[in-house]
Amino acid sequence: MLQTIGTLPVARKIAELRRTVAEWRRCGEIVALVPTMGALHQGHLALIAHARARADRVIATIFVNPTQFAPNEDFARYPRDEAGDAAKLAAASCDLLYAPDAAEMYPAGFSTTVSAGALAAPLCGRFRPGHFDGVATVVTKLLLQAHPHIACFGEKDYQQLQIIGRVARDLDIDCAIEGVPIVRESDGLALSSRNVYLTADERRIAPALHRVLVAAVAQVAGGASPQEAAAAGSAALLQAGFDKVDYLELVDAESLQPLRDRGRAGRAAAAAWLGKTRLIDNEPLSARDAR
Ligand code: AMP
Repeated sequence: MLQTIGTLPVARKIAELRRTVAEWRRCGEIVALVPTMGALHQGHLALIAHARARADRVIATIFVNPTQFAPNEDFARYPRDEAGDAAKLAAASCDLLYAPDAAEMYPAGFSTTVSAGALAAPLCGRFRPGHFDGVATVVTKLLLQAHPHIACFGEKDYQQLQIIGRVARDLDIDCAIEGVPIVRESDGLALSSRNVYLTADERRIAPALHRVLVAAVAQVAGGASPQEAAAAGSAALLQAGFDKVDYLELVDAESLQPLRDRGRAGRAAAAAWLGKTRLIDNEPLSARDAR
């Protein structure tokens, strides 16, 4: 029998997860997985809703993965609220929470990792060395542990979504990787568990990140070069009150390399700092928009 939090069944062990999914699969049910680090908000719940619409059974995972944080990053203070998360998942008709501890994921002697490859080099990869290898490794493990038919990831972490799609194809993982559009506050700020770090002043500045990306996309659609639009965007972020811009770039939506061929779909993507908080966001540029 699985433990429950409130009404939500919870698996803490790989064996419990496998038994539960095997039983569902035996009954012919389609299983969807939604990996998260918890501190759930409406963005995560959109992934659950997407999964709910596509599958008979929905599993959410909560695991704050230590190997994707650098020593100077926010692993220790990352927001954690398992009871609150479980209530949200139950209300969203999630069937199972999988919440392993670090010893279950990385037992003594663990030493094999997945290297995220070429898609991990640009954008955030330049500023967070090793981050995407940590993500690729933990997501590969979650997919092999849960054996879902479908796994859902947010476009909020667009580079991560592209990398995971590549990993699943390259390693022949039998699971469809599906992206879900970004959920935003009414002022355009992309929902993120890290938004709780923002001071009131920083929160007022934060929506400029999306505004500037939308403006960069409009400039390129209007005929500006991707380089011009990116430079103008970086300057606009600093002007709006951001303390530092890691990058603002227009990239090919698939290869994540600088956008050159206007006939291909693109993405404007940025990472910028407000005080101690690093925000990321992105906005599509369809091939149709670009002239
Ligand atoms: P995290 O808990 O931040 O690791 O995110 C777990 C999943 O939720 C990832 O696939 C994210 O891309 C997705 N996600 C986070 N924020 C949003 C958002 N605002 N809109 C859509 N998906 C999101």
